[in-house]
Amino acid sequence: MQQILPQIYTFTGLIAGRVYMLQDADGLTLVDSSIANAGDKILAQLKAAGHEPSAVKRILITHGHPDHVGSLPQLRAATGAEVWAHPLEKPVIQGEQSVVRPTSGFRPPDTKVKPTTVDRTFNGEETLPILGGLQVINTPGHAPGHVSFWHPAHKLLITGDVIFYLMNKMTLPFAFFTADMDENKRSIQKVLALKPETLLFGHGQPIVKTAAAPLQAFAQRIGVA
Ligand SMILES: [Zn+2]
Repeated sequence: MQQILPQIYTFTGLIAGRVYMLQDADGLTLVDSSIANAGDKILAQLKAAGHEPSAVKRILITHGHPDHVGSLPQLRAATGAEVWAHPLEKPVIQGEQSVVRPTSGFRPPDTKVKPTTVDRTFNGEETLPILGGLQVINTPGHAPGHVSFWHPAHKLLITGDVIFYLMNKMTLPFAFFTADMDENKRSIQKVLALKPETLLFGHGQPIVKTAAAPLQAFAQRIGVA
């Protein structure tokens, strides 16, 4: 486990799909759950940091892709945490609907994830009682119900897969895993308007406090700023 800012951590060594931990007085919140074999590592790192599994009160999901909900069945069972997600991702996470793929170009095979019950769906761009106020931001495109999480006090955005950060470079998410790239680009414009200074990606290392300039440069490179 690696600390990013006070009360904000990320798990290490998960191979694909980053998981964050937010620490409040009343318990822990995880964001996403990585791939299917990550659950044991996440639980071990929680234990090493002195947390019982039951300290995890909720798991927020940015979108229902296998590298974000892969260990969700194990983590929900081990922790007893509630799973919170966007209404459009709920049937995907519950294994009732296939992952939504692009309508043109190369499409990976039809995929359903291993089902997990979603306990609560987001009510629009509500502010959640986490870290003193964590706002749900609808950022559709990569997945229809994709969300990011915005912490105004820190100017911090947990991006999910709206933007990838690969080898120290911001990129668009992979096209063949992105339901609607034009819509995803509009979500990047929305993210840009928030003026975040810290970006916590679904893929890649966090950029802490110095994200404004590289985000602006990235937005210009892809023609949305
Ligand atoms: Zn994804």
